[in-house]
Parts: sequence; C-alpha cells; structure tokens
Amino acid sequence: MKEFDTIAAVATGIGESGISIIRVSGERALSIVSSIFTGRNGRKLDDIKTYTMRYGHIIEKNSDNIIDEVIVSYMKGPKSFTAEDTVEINCHGGVIATKRVLEEVIKAGSRIAEPGEFTKRAFLNGRIDLSQAEAVIDIIRAKTDLSMKSALMQAEGRISREIGSIRHRILGVIAHIEATVDFPEDDLEEATSDKITVDLRSIIAELNKLLETANEGKIIREGLGVVIVGKPNVGKSSLLNALVMENRAIVTEIPGTTRDVIEEYINIEGIPLKIIDTAGIRETEDIVEKIGVERSRQKINEADLIMLVLDLSRELDNEDLEILDYIKDKKYIILLNKADLDLRLKLDVMKGLDKDNVIEISALKGRGIDELKEKIKNMFFRGQITSSDIMITNSRHKEALLRASEKCEAALRTLEEGLSIDFASIDARGAWADLGEITGETLEEDLLDKIFSEFCIGK
Ligand code: GDP
Repeated sequence: MKEFDTIAAVATGIGESGISIIRVSGERALSIVSSIFTGRNGRKLDDIKTYTMRYGHIIEKNSDNIIDEVIVSYMKGPKSFTAEDTVEINCHGGVIATKRVLEEVIKAGSRIAEPGEFTKRAFLNGRIDLSQAEAVIDIIRAKTDLSMKSALMQAEGRISREIGSIRHRILGVIAHIEATVDFPEDDLEEATSDKITVDLRSIIAELNKLLETANEGKIIREGLGVVIVGKPNVGKSSLLNALVMENRAIVTEIPGTTRDVIEEYINIEGIPLKIIDTAGIRETEDIVEKIGVERSRQKINEADLIMLVLDLSRELDNEDLEILDYIKDKKYIILLNKADLDLRLKLDVMKGLDKDNVIEISALKGRGIDELKEKIKNMFFRGQITSSDIMITNSRHKEALLRASEKCEAALRTLEEGLSIDFASIDARGAWADLGEITGETLEEDLLDKIFSEFCIGK
C-alpha cells in the first residue's frame, strides 16, 4: 500500500549548514537505514533502543565506500511525530553530503516523501487531528511571536477541544429531536422545542464568539494588509521608510503577472503588517503623474487598512477629494504629512470623515510615527489579547464555523416558526458535519491532499 510504505526526505533547510537531518518513517525505517549503516565494531542498528542515538557511517550499498559520518536516532512508533517507526540521520550539512545520504536511503528501499507527508501520516495515524496538523505549518511560517504562540496553542489541540465540545452539544440537540420524533406526543414536542431553542441559542453564541476572533486571528497569521495611497510626492515612500527603518522583519518579493509587487513586513507590537508598496508599482508605469484612481481603488478594496497620505503644505485637488470620498466607508487612517511645513490644506474638507483617524505626521522628521503605530494597534485590538485566548487564524476554519453558525440559525428559525422539529434536525446535522471539517473528521480526500500539499518537503 502506497499510503504506508516507508518514506524519506531531508527535514532541514537545503544549503550550507552544520548538519542536515534525513528523516525516514514507516514500518521498514529501521531495517532500511540499518542496511546502509555501520557503527563502531561493525554494529548495525537492530538492537538500538528507542529514543537513543548511535554514531557511525553511511556506507554505499554493494561497495564499502563511506558516504558520510553520521549520528542516527531512533523513535519507535507510536511515540514519534508520525506515530510510525522513525529514524533520523544526522549527517554533515551541505548539498552534496545530504543528497548522497538521501540517495542511499532511497536505494535501500524507501520512497521520497511528498510535501507534508510526515504530518499527513501523523494525521492519518490518528496522532493529531487536522487543525493540529495545520498548526504545524503555521508554526513553521510564523513571522511574529504572537503568531507562533497562537499556532502552538492550536498544535496542542486547544481548538480541537473547543470544536469537539460544541459538536458534542449539537449532537445532544439531534439526539433530543430524534427521541421526541420517536414518541410523537404533542406536549413532548413542545417541551423539546423549548429546550433545544435554548441550547441552539447558546451554541450559536459560542460559535460567534469563535468567529469574532477570526479577524484578529487572520491578521496574526497573515499580517494586516495595509496599502499606502496618495498622489506622487506626498511622502508615501518616506512614510514607508520611517515605518520600516525601526523594525524590518522580512521582505518578500512576489512576482506579479505584469510587474513586481513588493511587500514589506513590519511588526508593530506583535501585529505583522504586510505593506503593499504602491510606490514600487508606480515607478514601472509610464503615466507617472497620473495617480490612476481606478488602480488605487482595486488596492484599496483588497486591503484591511488604508493609509491615505496627503501633503498638508498644499491645497487638496479633485483627485484627493475623490479618494477621500471613496475610502470614507472603509477602515482608514488619513495622514497629513509634512507637518514640519506650513499648513495650506483646508481642514474643513474632512468634515464627513472620522477626526480620530486623522493624524499629522512628518515622515521626514519622524514626527507622529509613534502615534500612528498606536492608532493601528488600537484599531485592530480593541480588546486585550491574552495568550490563553483561543484564536481562529485559519480561513478554512472560519468558513466552516460560519456555515455551522448559519445552519444553527436556520434550525432555530424552524423552531420559532413552529415547523416540525425534525426539519431542525437536518440543519443541526449539517452544522455538526461542518464543524467536523475543522478537525478532519468529516472531510473529502482531495481537500486533505490540498491542505498537505502546502507543506514543505520533510515535514
Ligand atoms: P511619494 O512620491 O509619495 O512616495 O513621496 P516621497 O516619499 O518620495 O516624498 C516626496 C518628497 O517629499 C521628497 O522630496 C521627500 O523628502 C519630501 N517629504 C516627504 N515627507 C516629508 C515631510 O514630512 N516633510 C517635508 N518637508 N518633506 C517631506
């Protein structure tokens, strides 16, 4: 069976490094590695104890050529990451040593693992559920302490337990309805309807509480999408520099279809901001002086937060006014830049806008930047996040929660309209299944494959 043959992959990053680890998992992991291993005095690995290591060499099969000097560790299933017998070969780092050792492991009878296959096995073998498996990749990708903390909590099964408990309550509702339907007496049906109305309301409240965390959760995981807009020369690049200078985390270049969009990650007290650098886009355009309100609109619509930069040393023109009008129903901060110069901008045009969200800054002199950061923080974390709160960070989980909540609402309506209670049971079953998708208890195979294919090799 392909699913549970013995797999192998390099688990560490590729490149020059002190050591590399080649991970081997499956029923034959130990015998495969043992067949290419020679320890002191010719010892093999047959008698190695679980959770111990042995020093030796990897030897080319069918010759006595030494491939590399290694330390091998052994974790007997089910007490391993995959819940299968796992052997890890610590060899020298660097591309050649690593590749040669892996080749020998493959020649000796294992297969190259697919991306995420080790974690997938941990899931298929029942050691972790799907939300825990997904947390593994979040830990690897975490860009801030906060996202790391949140992913770790998910990995420990906090979300699974919460979802499990809500599912259990929904099951209670279903069971109650079914018991009543089996004894169709009018007064019983009414009593049941009253009881499960209360239950459903409280279940919906719990689901919504989790959903409320999703917005902040998404920000913690993916970063807050911030777009800086404004006409040329108002100081957008200067603002970006002022923000990035203090705390640059990661700069990624994402190749777009027609041009390169630069995303800068900065970190404000644990909130990762993914700043879309529109200045970079503009430079590659011919129509430099045209701000292109249309193009800004698209970026504005995709962003979680808009920072509109205006030059307070000039009067506003129609273009500025048009953008102001466009953003007034969105989450925005208006930055009146060049506060070190004389004010010429007429503030009365801001009448329809939220004054609290207007900040005077000088990007050049670094004035008002702290206030801006404080503002961003407050806008997105009104409540204090404590490390013990469960947070929904995964959009797949969020969608499943939304569907479950909608179905519970539908069940509630059925009861309120006095329809037969077994209609409510259909929706309740649906909600129960939706929640099961989060933990992987009810999930299609191809979706599983898709989730694990996002992992890196060796994990
Ligand atoms: P962008 O085209 O919007 O990216 O604007 P830039 O950041 O390139 O800035 C345009 C010009 O305005 C540059 O000469 C900056 O030095 C200047 N500038 C930016 N911020 C300030 C500021 O706060 N005060 C003053 N006096 N000049 C600024």
